[in-house]
Amino acid sequence: MAKTRPGVASSKSTPGKKEIESYTIRGTNKVVQAGDCVLMRPSDAGKPPYVARVEKIEADARNNVKVHCRWYYRPEESLGGRRQFHGVKELFMSDHYDVQSAHTIEGKCIVHTFKNYTRLENVGAEDYYCRFEYKAATGAFTPDRVAVYCKCEMPYNPDDLMVQCEGCKDWYHPACVGMTIEEATKLEHFACTECSSDEDVKRSQNGFASSPTNDLKVEAKRRKR
Ligand SMILES: [Zn+2]
Ligand SMILES: [Zn+2]
Repeated sequence: MAKTRPGVASSKSTPGKKEIESYTIRGTNKVVQAGDCVLMRPSDAGKPPYVARVEKIEADARNNVKVHCRWYYRPEESLGGRRQFHGVKELFMSDHYDVQSAHTIEGKCIVHTFKNYTRLENVGAEDYYCRFEYKAATGAFTPDRVAVYCKCEMPYNPDDLMVQCEGCKDWYHPACVGMTIEEATKLEHFACTECSSDEDVKRSQNGFASSPTNDLKVEAKRRKR
């Protein structure tokens, strides 16, 4: 594959290699263990850090520490590139495994499930989310179908505000229904064009929230693509 990662090392035939419990990131008191997600220094200093999940940590007789890791890909690193519905903090869990020197670890991060990420009160620099697995060789995603919303039939991008129609319960991007974001945030009730021409729209008290993932019924019903 075309992607290059820094210092790809073969750990084959390293003498005296043994698995260790943890590694403390140089210059910090942060402890990394198997199962943790870490940020790794990119080969190109202008690029954002690589993100990986640590599978195993090993040290050799001279105490060189290597981490066996599984890469997360950012949308722009995938074969299909970044798409409109990909959030800024979106990562794909890849099937690309690697061994890296522990020195490339710059920090730790948290890769949330999509649902947990949309429920965070505040998104910190260390918060990411993953909703797709990605096959690096073919560019294929799992799942290959997700719920889509709005007239534009796009999967939910948690960076974008959406408004929920009180009639059909679908979610809409303000721009797709001819509103500005400012207008949308001031709305108390919203009905899409189809539903507002329908006289039987039931007025619900709480037709407005900021996350389609809170509405499981909508998600299940509209599962396609
Ligand atoms: Zn839309
Ligand atoms: Zn509607």
